[in-house]
Amino acid sequence: MDWTGIRGEVFHNVSMRRYTSMKVGGHARFMVYPADEEDLAHIVRRLETHGISYRFLGNGTNVIVNDGLIDEAIIRITKINMLRKKKVNDTWAVKVSGGITLNRLIKYCAEMGLSGLERLYWIPGTVGGGIKMNCGSFSSTISDCLEYVEILRNNHGLLRIEKKDLSFGYRQSSIGRTECVLFAQFALQRKDREEILKEMEYVSMERKKRHPMEYPSSGSIFKSVGNEPAWKFIEKAGLKGLRIGGACISEKHGNFIVNLGDAKAKDIKALIEKVKKEVFELFGVNLVEEVELWGFEEERKNL
Ligand SMILES: Cc1cc2nc3c(=O)[nH]c(=O)nc-3n(C[C@H](O)[C@H](O)[C@H](O)COP(=O)(O)OP(=O)(O)OC[C@H]3O[C@@H](n4cnc5c(N)ncnc54)[C@H](O)[C@@H]3O)c2cc1C
Repeated sequence: MDWTGIRGEVFHNVSMRRYTSMKVGGHARFMVYPADEEDLAHIVRRLETHGISYRFLGNGTNVIVNDGLIDEAIIRITKINMLRKKKVNDTWAVKVSGGITLNRLIKYCAEMGLSGLERLYWIPGTVGGGIKMNCGSFSSTISDCLEYVEILRNNHGLLRIEKKDLSFGYRQSSIGRTECVLFAQFALQRKDREEILKEMEYVSMERKKRHPMEYPSSGSIFKSVGNEPAWKFIEKAGLKGLRIGGACISEKHGNFIVNLGDAKAKDIKALIEKVKKEVFELFGVNLVEEVELWGFEEERKNL
């Protein structure tokens, strides 16, 4: 692969353990950091011409990558930095690049006295990853105050898509695997700065109480089943503390698998399968993953 003319950075044979919050996974063939949107378009064109499969990675907090070689280019737009606000009638529009972390965006909004995103505080991902997953917490989702996104879609250049032309569901969106959320604009309301900070403090305290922050994880492994959180089934099945290799169902939160230090992706996958089987056998309930499993057999079949 010839990278001449690419202005961003390209790394070869990169360990995915370093780039995912679960801290497992093999080596990706390339990891690419475009310098800007033009560079990104150029990179995507080049990869497509060479028939190299690619996908986008934010903070890697919702993906579990398989052990072994990931024969792909992983593109991260975390070096494209944009965060600005402007007043539009009674609301404020905040436009941000997709590689910025949600926490940075939310802290900026709090400083400016702009409300709408604060209940997502401490979700450890980026804006782009958050929009793709329609991340949410405390009855709020990132799409609630989204106005539009600017995405790069394969070879079609930068497209502005209004929220009404996208679809969002529970931890899912219509953003495709080869589409990159480069920018997003949110419509926010003025609110007292102290009130926003109070809400953020509440959210972070609750998270610390509920989540096993002391170990690497990918957050919730399974989606809720209707209104029932997945942890209820896992805990009722007596699976808390169950271990396979270095992967363990957290004692603190039944829907978290934690890496005790030396877990392999295969341990985590085996634990996921075990939980699904037990919960199905006991309650007739099919748990569905909220996390994405990259490079595993099922995914290869669906590509
Ligand atoms: C401790 C912990 C707590 C968590 N709590 C919550 C929670 O309360 N609520 C919740 O919803 N989630 C939670 N998560 C999961 C995760 O943080 C969210 O899903 C988050 O939105 C993922 O963002 P990311 O940048 O890490 O995305 P990644 O994990 O890097 O990627 C996720 C998906 O988004 C795609 N993607 C990434 N960037 C882009 C982009 N710029 N354009 C297009 N697609 C892109 C990837 O290809 C992949 O398909 C938690 C995770 C952890 C580890």
